[in-house]
Amino acid sequence: MAKRIFISQQPSVIIIGGGIIGVCSAYYLARKGVPVTLLEKDRINAGSTYGNAGFITPSDSLPVPAPGVLTQGMRWLMDAASPFYIKPTLKRDMLQWLWNFQKACNEKAWKEAVPILTELSVESQALFEEIIESEKLSCEYQQQGLMLLYKKEETFQEGQQMARKLEEYGISAEVFPADGLQSRFPPALPELTGGIFYKSDAHFDPAAFNAQLAQRVREMGVKIRENTEVLNFTVEAGRIREVHTTTGTYLADQIVLAAGAWTPSLGKQLDLQLAIQPAKGYSITVQRPENYPELPLLLDETKIAVTPIGDTLRFAGTLELAGLGLEINQKRLNAIRHGVEDYLDVDLDVQPLVEIWRGLRPCSPDGLPLLGRSERYANLIVASGHCMLGISQGTMTGKLVAEIALGENLSMDVESMRIERF
Ligand SMILES: Cc1cc2nc3c(=O)[nH]c(=O)nc-3n(C[C@H](O)[C@H](O)[C@H](O)COP(=O)(O)OP(=O)(O)OC[C@H]3O[C@@H](n4cnc5c(N)ncnc54)[C@H](O)[C@@H]3O)c2cc1C
Repeated sequence: MAKRIFISQQPSVIIIGGGIIGVCSAYYLARKGVPVTLLEKDRINAGSTYGNAGFITPSDSLPVPAPGVLTQGMRWLMDAASPFYIKPTLKRDMLQWLWNFQKACNEKAWKEAVPILTELSVESQALFEEIIESEKLSCEYQQQGLMLLYKKEETFQEGQQMARKLEEYGISAEVFPADGLQSRFPPALPELTGGIFYKSDAHFDPAAFNAQLAQRVREMGVKIRENTEVLNFTVEAGRIREVHTTTGTYLADQIVLAAGAWTPSLGKQLDLQLAIQPAKGYSITVQRPENYPELPLLLDETKIAVTPIGDTLRFAGTLELAGLGLEINQKRLNAIRHGVEDYLDVDLDVQPLVEIWRGLRPCSPDGLPLLGRSERYANLIVASGHCMLGISQGTMTGKLVAEIALGENLSMDVESMRIERF
């Protein structure tokens, strides 16, 4: 069979991945008039961008590795229904990832990461507002803040300590003791200890945003090739020359690797060790109960996110480091369902089910994304590894990818996100 070769006008960019990072990168490149082809192995929104909690949270832009996380993680590992799980393995890339993760669990690394993550999220939030308005996207975007709810006095105190720390980064919070909580948020159960309200956060329907932006990007001239899986590459003189896919071979000046949790598998084809592990999470979306308020929640002890999205209500959580498998662990799904009962006067069993979903977050070991140009391949840019914050940071990441591709001055420093730093 003859080889199908797609040659774009020059200079052009190929983006691999149709999640929020790939689509936002395509958008900012197309705005600058660059010819772009986006390759997606399945369809737009096939990955983690689809059914996540939809939080855009400058207030919660915290790295997963943090002081105390290892101790808490060990406790959770003993509990089959906890929000955290690591599948035992001897795989080298996972052991290296865990080694780098534990190295980042200290106050110094945490303090260095928070302002970077916060800046990415704050800038992204402004860009979300700009894009949604200018492109007239209808995705239930609302800036109603985020309420953290607490069952235990000890964790409520810890939450308040964190709120005081975050003030140093310009993020302010309002503390609701138990007696003020129900008037602010009627579905909260009276036995809760308190709540902490971050007022600047927003939420939306991430799948609607990404699908509509992809459509807009098509209208701007980007070629989106769905059902086109990138298999491997031809490399010549420190550059990627050809991208081989299930539907033919593509040639371009620059390649953006934004394949979410699958990014390291493609990295391996290039002999690059990209330190990203897939971290599975689940969401349960039900029809929204009548009169349920428009306020997103984080049930802090169980790490369950609760997001009203249009006429639905979504419960999302769990972080399982267990490879690329998409099987559903029923115990953990039930833990989300029942975890809600301790906080809210909402019976998930009586609300009509809309969808059960799982997705793989692309997680780096130090909590910062991998973003920048490869030192090894002059025409490769990687944008992945945002873990719990890929939605919150999607637009700014896309903008930075376009700036890197065009060699422009960067809107923020990406040195600490170097892709080959581990
Ligand atoms: C339960 C849960 C809740 C979450 N809640 C939030 C939240 O509230 N706020 C937030 O900011 N983040 C949240 N996240 C994280 C967020 O969803 C991710 O960080 C983000 O979606 C990552 O986007 P991405 O574009 O990098 O990856 P993805 O959306 O996974 O996209 C990658 C795409 O690449 C494609 N691909 C892979 N391999 C290939 C290949 N070989 N060839 C072509 N295409 C390929 C895939 O099919 C996929 O479509 C949550 C995640 C989960 C699981």
